[in-house]
Parts: sequence; C-alpha cells; structure tokens
Amino acid sequence: MTDQSLSPTRPPATPPATAQSTTTQPPNTTVAPTASASAAKTATAVDDFRRNLASVRARITAAAHAAGRDPAEIRLLPVSKTVPEDRLRAAHSAGITQMAENKVQEAKRKAANLADLGIHWALIGHLQTNKAKDVAAFADEFQALDSLRVAEALDRRLQAVGRSLDVYVQVNSSGEASKFGLEPDAVAGFLAALPVYSSLRVRGLMTLAAHTDDAARIRECFRLMRSLRDAGLQAGTVGDGQLSMGMSGDFELAIAGGSTCVRVGQAIFGARPAPDPRYWPDNSAQ
Ligand SMILES: *Cc1c(COP(=O)(O)O)cnc(C)c1O
Repeated sequence: MTDQSLSPTRPPATPPATAQSTTTQPPNTTVAPTASASAAKTATAVDDFRRNLASVRARITAAAHAAGRDPAEIRLLPVSKTVPEDRLRAAHSAGITQMAENKVQEAKRKAANLADLGIHWALIGHLQTNKAKDVAAFADEFQALDSLRVAEALDRRLQAVGRSLDVYVQVNSSGEASKFGLEPDAVAGFLAALPVYSSLRVRGLMTLAAHTDDAARIRECFRLMRSLRDAGLQAGTVGDGQLSMGMSGDFELAIAGGSTCVRVGQAIFGARPAPDPRYWPDNSAQ
C-alpha cells in the first residue's frame, strides 16, 4: 500500500503549532499519552488540517529516528470516523487521500458522497457477514478480519463483482474483553486457512493495544504483535507482514514496536465528542 500524497517528503505547510502543546510526554517515559490528551483542537479549515498533519508527521519522523527506523516505512492512515463530510473535504484539500472508518454504514455514505475526491477507504471496524456486500462494493481495504465466516462472505461478494481486497487480520493483543480480534494463539491457524479466499490479499496484522496509560503494558501488546507477525512471515502466511498498530495516544510506542501503519484520528481531526463505546465500554474509558 503506497502512501500517495501523504509522503513524508511533502514539506509541512506551517510549523507544528497547536498539537505541540499536547505532546508534553517525551517518548520513552513509563507513561503513555492518553488518547484524549493527544487530541488536537478540532480541525475545520484546510490550514488546521495542514498544521495537525505536519505535527503528526513530525512526531512519526521523530519516533522512527529514535527507533533507528526509516520514517518512510510508516504509513499514516487518518481515521475520519464521526467527522462530517464538509470537514473531510477540507482534510482532503490539505492532502489527506486515505481515510479510515469503523462503521460500514457511515463509510458507505461518505464514500458515495465524496466519490469525486477519489479517496482510498479503509474499514477498520468489526464487520458482520450481512454487510460484506457493501464492503466488497466500496472499500479499498479491510483491517479488522477476525472470522472465517466474514472471510468467506467477503470473498464470495468480491468474486461476484470481480474485485479483490487488502485485508489485515485483527488480533486482540491486550486480552481486554471489550476488544474484537483473534486470540493470539489462534492467529497462526487462522492465517493458514485464508489462502482459499483468493480475492483477499492478506497484508498483515492489526491491533488496538491495551487502553491504559501504562506504557509497559502497551509495549507488551506491540511486542506480541511483532512476534505473531514474524511467525507468519516464517510460515509465509501473512503477506508482506505489515503491522497496523498505534493510534493518537500510543503511536510513538507503536513505531518503536515495529508498526508500519499508524491509524490516527484525534491528533489530526480533533477530539471526538465521546469515547468510543465500541472499543472501550463503560468503566474502561479514561
Ligand atoms: C478510532 C480508531 C482509531 C483512531 O483513534 P484516535 O484516538 O482517534 O487516534 C484507530 N483504530 C481504530 C480501530 C479505531 O476505531
């Protein structure tokens, strides 16, 4: 997956200003910034998006260098869920050409209403088999594959329309009951079963790390993901072995842990109105 206009060589339009104040934690302390602390001010105008993007890119570059990695290996996937379409048009004008959504209905509506922009749409949320047809019709990638029933349904619908789809297998790396994804010990067998679904192009693994400010626990999730990915590479079952991990609150730790795709919403678009009950129900929201 290439990063089109989000290339790190693109010069920042303005120096990173606002989001700067939210990054008071230096990267290797024991406390990870929480998602809410990492949210930018709500971005509406094209310049807001330029500034937030420049800030996030600068953080990605710094984290990559700190880990001895090439920043070009790390894809920035902006997460546009809950953000209305007029603001997504401004984001696109600022150079955002890929957007990730976690709900099929919302993604489908946005893909239709913003069709003129040619956006690359990633679905990053749990999918039910009865929505496979929609996903096969508009999505460019699906990062939350965690059941063979969904793989089968997607493959059937994709065959019917003559498309193929990049997929990431979602893993529950934190052990939190609220998270979707395969249990770690089920990953190898699951990956081995995917080749029969020939319209799915397996690209790698995806996870949401533990929802905590304990950096050690978060790092442990990323370490587990990397070892599952490495095992998949050995077995030849995980495609080119991409690792989609890291969000606004933990992407620096994820990059240190080997992430090749960070999914960043609030640090680009601004805080969402409410914590995401889909992943962090009731008491676990911070
Ligand atoms: C919302 C979401 C993100 C982005 O979270 P932010 O805190 O906005 O950066 C990443 N991955 C998934 C699966 C999500 O649902």
